[in-house]
Amino acid sequence: MPRTHAALPRLHVEPDLSAGAQLTLGKEQSLYLAAVLRKSVGDEVVLFNGRDGAWLARLTGDAKKSVALQLIEQIAAQTPRADLWYGFAPLKTERLDYMIQKATEMGAGTIQPVLTKFTQVSRLKHERLVANAIEAAEQCEVLSVPDIVPETTLERLLHAWPEEHGNRQLIFADEGEDASSPAELLAGLSGKPIGLLIGPEGGFSNDERARLHALPFVVPISLGPRILRADTAAVAALAIIQAIIGDWR
Ligand code: SAM
Repeated sequence: MPRTHAALPRLHVEPDLSAGAQLTLGKEQSLYLAAVLRKSVGDEVVLFNGRDGAWLARLTGDAKKSVALQLIEQIAAQTPRADLWYGFAPLKTERLDYMIQKATEMGAGTIQPVLTKFTQVSRLKHERLVANAIEAAEQCEVLSVPDIVPETTLERLLHAWPEEHGNRQLIFADEGEDASSPAELLAGLSGKPIGLLIGPEGGFSNDERARLHALPFVVPISLGPRILRADTAAVAALAIIQAIIGDWR
C-alpha cells in the first residue's frame, strides 16, 4: 500500500485542525523545522492532535522561532486510541525513555508506571514521559499519543483494578513461571480488553507474585526460558500480544 507523505515530518500539535486553519508553532518545534530540518516557505509537513486525524500543512512563514503553517487537507481520519493498557515498573532515565517509546510504537494506548517492592525509581518526571510518548507517536505515525497515567503502587493498582478496568484481563509477565509459550494462553483472551504488567530489574517479590497469581483477572505468562531485561521483556510481550490477539492481525 503506498505510503504517501511518508517522507514528510510529522508533528503533534494541540490546536484544532480544520481546512484553511492557520497556526504558528512554538519555539521548539519551529527550531526543529526551520533550523534542524531547514524547511522553508512552501514546504509541507503533517500535523496531528489526537482528535482530528492527520493534516497536510504548508509553511507560510519560516522564522526560526515561530514557523507559520496553513492547513491544506486531511490525509487520514482520526483513529481511536489503542485499547491496550501497559503497566511497568519504572527503570532509570534512558531505559525509562526507551520503555515509553517502545510501548508507544508497539501500540499501547494507556501507559502507567507501577511501583513495586524492588522498583528502584520513586520519583518520575511526568512531562518527560509525555514528551517521549509524543516523540514516538510522531515517528511511528500513530494519530493518538498514549495516555500517560500518573504512577501508582502495585497494591493500589490491583485493589482498584476491577472497578477501574471492568473485565480487562491483566497479563502478568512472570519471570518465575515455568518456561512455556504464551501463545495458547493469549489466544484464549481474544476479544477481551487487555493489560500487560512488566516488573522491575529486580523482578517481582514472591509475595507480589503470589498476590498476582491469586487474582481472577490476572493471566501469568512466561516469556521463555531466559530471564529478559525489563525493557526486552516489554517489547517481547507486546509483540506476542499484538501478533496473537492485537492489531498486528
Ligand atoms: N529477577 C531478575 C533480575 O534480577 O534481573 C529478573 C527481573 S526481569 C529483568 C524484569 C521483568 O521482566 C520481570 O519482572 C518480568 O515481568 C519480565 N520478564 C523477564 N524475563 C521473563 C520471562 N522469562 N518470563 C516472563 N517474564 C519475564
